[in-house]
Amino acid sequence: MTRPRPPVLTLIGHTPLLPLHFPEAGRTLYAKAEFLNPSGSIKDRLALAIIEDAEERGLLSPDSIILECTSGNTGISLAMVGAAKGYRVKILMSESASVERRHLIRQLGGEIQLFAANRGYATGIELSLELAAQDPRIFLPRQFENPLNALDHETATGPEILAQLDGPADAFVAGYGTGGTLTGCGRALKAASATTRVLAMEPAEAAMLSGEMPCCHHIEGVAGGYVPPLLRGAQLDGVIKVSSADALAMTRRLSREFGLLVGTSSGANITAALRTACDLPPTAKVVTILCDRAERDYSTKLFAN
Ligand code: PMP
Repeated sequence: MTRPRPPVLTLIGHTPLLPLHFPEAGRTLYAKAEFLNPSGSIKDRLALAIIEDAEERGLLSPDSIILECTSGNTGISLAMVGAAKGYRVKILMSESASVERRHLIRQLGGEIQLFAANRGYATGIELSLELAAQDPRIFLPRQFENPLNALDHETATGPEILAQLDGPADAFVAGYGTGGTLTGCGRALKAASATTRVLAMEPAEAAMLSGEMPCCHHIEGVAGGYVPPLLRGAQLDGVIKVSSADALAMTRRLSREFGLLVGTSSGANITAALRTACDLPPTAKVVTILCDRAERDYSTKLFAN
């Protein structure tokens, strides 16, 4: 039986869709303001969906430990849901994730174990499986393969976008970490209109979908050296590579010209969406995601100038 939601968790989802006009291109993009979720990122949706599902299936008890490998935002979201619902949360994250993400997880009562930055998500995922094999209290949300991740975007985020657009989208553009957003929203938008194009944004320095070797980039939260299994379910129509420099420049522009304090993956998504829109008629509706807040990037290159 589903328990009543603690108040903070009722703030998750139903985010606005912001029309952002770019006069030099003569284009307006539609950006889903996911940074307005209570812990500051789109990952609140996934954390709540997976934990409530585990509760319904009787997989969680008061002594459970929720253990996940993440680039940081899922860790913050799980720590928030865990704090509100009274579960212990342990997060495995790469040393390269911004230090603010560690502070936020700890502030919410979560525990952190770091793994080497050069090893990618696969290392953290292996470690989580090893730890779970040793301790029966551990519950693994498995965000990289859990179908609920994409399903929640298919049944919630995607339909929200369609209702807010008041009709189908011409294109949906987003980066991938787990691939949940791209796969789930993509499915919902394509179900509403088969002509909607679904495009993956990936860092030019880590363009794995384009068949290139992943290297270091400055777009927080995406392309962690791993093509996630969830992405196999995405019906992609193309890939757009965005350099870290372009993502940083657009993220700063979003703050300075639009007043939007968002993270670098938002700037990268807008860059890719604007390129997509410029290849379509000016009235085309191109949708993308503003994934998280800028405050968790103070220590990164975004705030270096
Ligand atoms: N942007 C940021 C800042 C993120 O933290 C994530 C998730 N790691 C994404 C984009 C990508 O979302 P998804 O996991 O749904 O692919």
